Amino acid sequence: MKIKAFEFNPVAENTYVLYDDTHECVVIDAGCYYPDEKVELLNFILNNELIVKHLLNTHLHFDHILGNAFMKEQFEVEPEAHEADNFLLRTMNIQLKMFGFPRQGRTPRIKNYLRENDVIEFGNQRLIVLEVPGHSPGSLAFYSGKNECVFTGDALFRGTIGRTDLVRADHGQLLESIRNKLFTLPPETKVYPGHGPATTIKEEMMHNFFFPDYYANK
Ligand SMILES: [Zn+2]
Ligand SMILES: [Zn+2]
Repeated sequence: MKIKAFEFNPVAENTYVLYDDTHECVVIDAGCYYPDEKVELLNFILNNELIVKHLLNTHLHFDHILGNAFMKEQFEVEPEAHEADNFLLRTMNIQLKMFGFPRQGRTPRIKNYLRENDVIEFGNQRLIVLEVPGHSPGSLAFYSGKNECVFTGDALFRGTIGRTDLVRADHGQLLESIRNKLFTLPPETKVYPGHGPATTIKEEMMHNFFFPDYYANK
């Protein structure tokens, strides 16, 4: 499986395109906002002759869904996410205002809800859905054992974790999610977060600010 990462929009959100030799792909967190970002994502998909099978959202904060309408329009795909984050779609324009963005048009509704252990298939690949609530109630991670990687959205970053000062966020729950769902993956698993550089599960067990001594006590 190949992984193409883009950094989009003023809050530097990571959008990932996963694809393989079959040319089928999934897009995780289409955060493209400016016209040139949309063109960049579109050109990557067209130039590689990719067929978009799924538009996945790790969660529904505005910075991860800014490109959903564009993706739906271009590729006739519907965004998929956890139901518990639905309330965020209704507050999209409030979130945008908070961060100084202008109002946006409607963002597409979620038609297919994802839950723990759901399997996303494309090409010869499978992603397992993990529920990792805390940063938002419906936060998800997408795990590929075969490719030894996990897409963690805003749950786990290199050196830190997602903020929990937002509506319906829960710091304790986020720590639990990371301990029980992410730190139980093989340590060599590569972590692709929603913001910032990639890391590994082992790196985070050893050096994450929020888990001091985690590795030492294992
Ligand atoms: Zn977020
Ligand atoms: Zn984010």
